[in-house]
Amino acid sequence: MSRLVLVIGLASSLLTFSNVAVGEPTMVSTAIADRFDFPVGGPNADGVQMSRGFNVRGHLGEDWVSAAGPGAIYRAPVSAVANGVVSLARDFKRSWGNVIVIRHAFYEGGQLKYADSLYAHLDKIFVAEGQPVTRGQEIGLVGNAHGLYHPHLHFEIHRNTAIGVVHTAATRSLANYEVPSTFIMQHRVMAPVRGKMVVDIGSYTMPTFAGIPAKPFYTRNAVSRFAASNGGTTPQSIFRTLFGN
Ligand SMILES: [Zn+2]
Repeated sequence: MSRLVLVIGLASSLLTFSNVAVGEPTMVSTAIADRFDFPVGGPNADGVQMSRGFNVRGHLGEDWVSAAGPGAIYRAPVSAVANGVVSLARDFKRSWGNVIVIRHAFYEGGQLKYADSLYAHLDKIFVAEGQPVTRGQEIGLVGNAHGLYHPHLHFEIHRNTAIGVVHTAATRSLANYEVPSTFIMQHRVMAPVRGKMVVDIGSYTMPTFAGIPAKPFYTRNAVSRFAASNGGTTPQSIFRTLFGN
């Protein structure tokens, strides 16, 4: 059964790659975001808590876990924080694991703005690139990046929509990154708005993964073996070099 699921997963990721040519303009119609909610624990983050906060010089997102204890958030539903369109939905393996990015268009101070929300280390992805989603829609399940970490949701919000999964694509500043929970609290009540907006979801710099094995590290032993055969270099340290985190 698990082998069947794996085959289906591989097939759908190949389809996804052919649907959206990253780097080329890909215009998709999306409902304008009318408010932002939390990605886990329902709209109000019930029963979840932040285990690691945002730091503009270090951790460019927030980690969310269950208030019920370590591991209790594993495979909990992850929801789209607002209306938007899925701009990335892939298994990047390495330290990211399964990642979803959603592009949002919204009005702020009477002006049309854009933001990307990013959900990482997922156990499952339920959406495809180019797919419109609505606020609260279940898009995936909380995971552990193929066994690399304790289960948690790594969650980011980008003002700079060129970043995607490459943190070195933009300066570490609050002009490019939002403090995720602060942004959500500031956008829970927004002026009523209807309508659709066409956004370009082909604007990302994509990682090259040069010199990095494509195989995910499913177990702690595999990570240790890799580190031993690479002069003590861990996947996490390669990740930091490549993505700046
Ligand atoms: Zn994190």
